[in-house]
Amino acid sequence: MHRPFLRVLRILGLIALLAHPFGAEAKPKKFAQFKFPSQGPSESIGGYASGCLAGAVEMPKKGIGYQMIRTKRHRYFTHSQTAAWLADYGKALKAQGLEVLVGDLSQPRGGLMSNRHKSHQTGLDLDVWFERPKEFNPETLSDPPSLVNRKTEEMAMRDGKLLFGERHLKLLKTAARSPEVDRIFVNWAIKRHLCNTLKVDRDWLHKLRPWGGHDAHFHIRLHCPDSDVDCIGQPPIKPGTGCDEDLEWFSGPRKRERTRIAKEEAKKRAEEIALNPPKPKPPRKKPDPTRAELRCAELLQIPDKPLRKQSRK
Ligand SMILES: [Zn+2]
Repeated sequence: MHRPFLRVLRILGLIALLAHPFGAEAKPKKFAQFKFPSQGPSESIGGYASGCLAGAVEMPKKGIGYQMIRTKRHRYFTHSQTAAWLADYGKALKAQGLEVLVGDLSQPRGGLMSNRHKSHQTGLDLDVWFERPKEFNPETLSDPPSLVNRKTEEMAMRDGKLLFGERHLKLLKTAARSPEVDRIFVNWAIKRHLCNTLKVDRDWLHKLRPWGGHDAHFHIRLHCPDSDVDCIGQPPIKPGTGCDEDLEWFSGPRKRERTRIAKEEAKKRAEEIALNPPKPKPPRKKPDPTRAELRCAELLQIPDKPLRKQSRK
């Protein structure tokens, strides 16, 4: 073969390699990389921890009764109905002389965030801080104090007084009373405290889900909007206040007990397999993607551009 021809071939190969590094197709952008929402009305697609958000709106950074913090993280986008709900919640708090700091809502197109959070994917979740320091920088504020002593799993005290007080009760109750709210995640010790101390007016405890963490902030989750046909909600919470043995599921002793049982079972399984090796199974076929998964994949393909201003009539 002619030398110059070979050189041309080599150059062409190099161009192809540069255009498609590692010979692969260009990968779609990840949800955490988007700066702008997609055009159109808001729609939650998929599940709270495995979905996305079309047509997100930007939450104003400050409104009556609330202020967003750490907006540099770009997680102040949400469903239009959540934005309206949060504005109303702020007003209801202000009427009681309260104001709150709001942390993460969702990303411009929802989806998985780059750290910590697994939910908040569909524009229906939001984090509210229990405390509101008097003076602070909303961008650099470090986490407000926990209301629970994380070591003893008892409610935290300061100067012989409980940190948890009337303010926190009102924040939770106002949210839980709202029909749009599906559930609220709080630390299990906070729910236990409320179960033990509230003697009347306790029906709203139904919506408080005892969880791990959530001792400096609580997490509000709204129902799927009726119009969003591909939004996947959660099974309803069982009736009642939930002041029962399930309350302690996240407690230290219960967690350690679960780990112990899981280890024992794994050991037993390994012994059984060693004695009685199972026949190799044919490889399982990957299930077809769901409608919500296909729609979220489509959302990743829409260019990341600022929204066109829609003319208002
Ligand atoms: Zn959260």
